[in-house]
Amino acid sequence: MQPLIIGGGLAGCAAAIDLARAGLRPCLIERNSDPHDKICGEFLSGEAVAALAGLGVQPLALGAVPITRVELWAGRRQAAAALPFPALSLSRRVLDADLVARSAALVSEYHPGVAVSLAAAGEIRTSAGPLASNRILIATGKHDVRGVPRPAGPDQIGFKQYFAAPALHRQLAGTVRVVFFDGGYAGLQPVEGGRLNLCLLADGPLYRSLGSWPALLDHLLAQPGLAALGDGQALLAKPLAISRVPYGHLAPPAGDGLWRLGDQAAVIPSFCGDGMGIALESGRMAASMLAAGASADAYQAALLARTRRPVRLAMAALGLAETRLGRLAAIAGLGAIPGALALLARMTRVADPGRLASAA
Ligand SMILES: Cc1cc2nc3c(=O)[nH]c(=O)nc-3n(C[C@H](O)[C@H](O)[C@H](O)COP(=O)(O)OP(=O)(O)OC[C@H]3O[C@@H](n4cnc5c(N)ncnc54)[C@H](O)[C@@H]3O)c2cc1C
Repeated sequence: MQPLIIGGGLAGCAAAIDLARAGLRPCLIERNSDPHDKICGEFLSGEAVAALAGLGVQPLALGAVPITRVELWAGRRQAAAALPFPALSLSRRVLDADLVARSAALVSEYHPGVAVSLAAAGEIRTSAGPLASNRILIATGKHDVRGVPRPAGPDQIGFKQYFAAPALHRQLAGTVRVVFFDGGYAGLQPVEGGRLNLCLLADGPLYRSLGSWPALLDHLLAQPGLAALGDGQALLAKPLAISRVPYGHLAPPAGDGLWRLGDQAAVIPSFCGDGMGIALESGRMAASMLAAGASADAYQAALLARTRRPVRLAMAALGLAETRLGRLAAIAGLGAIPGALALLARMTRVADPGRLASAA
């Protein structure tokens, strides 16, 4: 029976490509039929870039722009440092479309526009009817499938909007700017096409007290690190939004025979810019272990061993960044000891890019 992958995002496509290469051509099911925007800061870490290279994807050839430095802002205070690893920025619309096209060409069956409504060991229910497999991989990202629940996340809402703001775009060339504010944080960085990606997390109570996206945007523009966006033009008719992302989630071996990939297996705080790296790494790891005859539980235990420490460290750093004092300390530390950033980056990394590249 061919393996069945639910979700044609980063993790699902990484698994699809590597399974097909191993001769186990899977069936891939994706509920969207066309390329679309996804909520994501679109910061591709060195690990993500290395994993993509292993899958044959060259982000620079797709238009990705290099990111070489980070700025942290809290009110008027700011600090900047060179990134301790090469990074890129590429829209998910373009990246995911490339991965889906590569996967579709390799898998035994690709079902775009088919949604899975229920998953259990051995069988799934889809909008096109039931399907059976003894190897089901759950790669539905932020969205849970009935039968495979994750714990609810904190009362926070994520938003993403693109802006055309030429002067600010020039100023931010090669830079990811992270702006902390009371009740959340935002990332701003250039992506291909001369656009800026504003992606943020806001506490539910803050959003509800403001009452709407325009009011939240006004609130953000009062931040010195984001004020220049006021001269820009929003490019999406409305921002993309998501609530209650279960940051800190780590899936243990569940004993149900299901393979959990990407955000279904581990959710690292967004500011680390490593969620995509983990998703790709988990897909590749699942494919190689499945092809080698390992069980779902053995894979889940191996992935947990790799992700537990970085996810927990990132959660601790997030706890600090949620306090004013912690934010000021982070900015003072980044300004005074640029090496602190390298250390945090190393500690919250999941994979060694060299190892991933050589495994390709
Ligand atoms: C606000 C925010 C900012 C972020 N910024 C960054 C960043 O800058 N850098 C970074 O590395 N990470 C970032 N992340 C994390 C990153 O987006 C995720 O970790 C990554 O997308 C997970 O990949 P995935 O393959 O697990 O899921 P996804 O890429 O979300 O793919 C899941 C796929 O499954 C499909 N699907 C869902 N449900 C079903 C169903 N029932 N049936 C069929 N198909 C289904 C979806 O349509 C989708 O295509 C951010 C996350 C958030 C919330």
